[in-house]
Amino acid sequence: MDIFNFFYSFLEKTYNFYVLEIDSILEAFYITSLVAFTVILIELLFIGWDNSSLKKLFNPSKSTINDIFSYILYSTSLIVLIAAVLSLGIPYFAKTIFFSETLFEAGEYLPTWAHLFIYLIFLDFIHYWQHRLMHRIGPLWEIHKFHHSAEEMNVITVYREHPLDKALLAFTSVIPIFLMGRPVGDFIIFFAFYNAIGFLKHSRLPWTLGWFGKYIIQSPRDHWIHHSKNREHHDKNFANNFAIWDHIFGTYYNGKNQNAELGLNKTDLNKNYLRDLWRVQINFLTKALKSIKNS
Ligand SMILES: [Zn+2]
Ligand SMILES: [Zn+2]
Repeated sequence: MDIFNFFYSFLEKTYNFYVLEIDSILEAFYITSLVAFTVILIELLFIGWDNSSLKKLFNPSKSTINDIFSYILYSTSLIVLIAAVLSLGIPYFAKTIFFSETLFEAGEYLPTWAHLFIYLIFLDFIHYWQHRLMHRIGPLWEIHKFHHSAEEMNVITVYREHPLDKALLAFTSVIPIFLMGRPVGDFIIFFAFYNAIGFLKHSRLPWTLGWFGKYIIQSPRDHWIHHSKNREHHDKNFANNFAIWDHIFGTYYNGKNQNAELGLNKTDLNKNYLRDLWRVQINFLTKALKSIKNS
């Protein structure tokens, strides 16, 4: 199969919230579930049933119920039914940029591995700063709060994101493509790997992974710290995948306190999935309008 088409269909499944077709819905669901269950199995092996995500899924709290809804809707792409309204058309612009003239066709000049390497580093750098801004700017924090209102971690918490959060990620994901040219080669394999990191870092595995988790790929333990209620953990460990950005830009948590109670000190976003999504939308729009008025 033509690699470009393969990549495009993957991108479409993940980011194009306006297409609904049953085959791709099922395919995306199977692949995602396979990766999620692999991580759940690793959890069972290392930390046992009592601490596992699986046990939490069988007896879910209100927070986990929101995670389950997010997981089912995103992994099947059925979120399209809601996101078409809530994502404010941002994925459509992302798709337009993806197919527009790009500035520099890196794929034609660079070996595939170099193109992929630069693309992943560039993308992760953008997502690191985007994540910091989501925490820093009032209206954006209203969106990102939905992810942070999870009160317990579960492998599938990675999917607990407001459609606007996902849409903004989709939008910034095409920036490196616009500057460097569209991906070529076997990028798809690496994207599957990229997704697996998301499940792993939201797992209940208490792993720091030594220097690898500290400097290379963010460990599950360091992502727990990012979700912590504890003040000294706030605004730390923003890395999406590559932990190095937190060291370079001074946001790595180096302290001793590893006791992270998860969630936000005050949240009303664990009541009812659809109501919670709508609440976030209204809070975002209200804050955004207020900021525009005050500027
Ligand atoms: Zn965050
Ligand atoms: Zn998270």
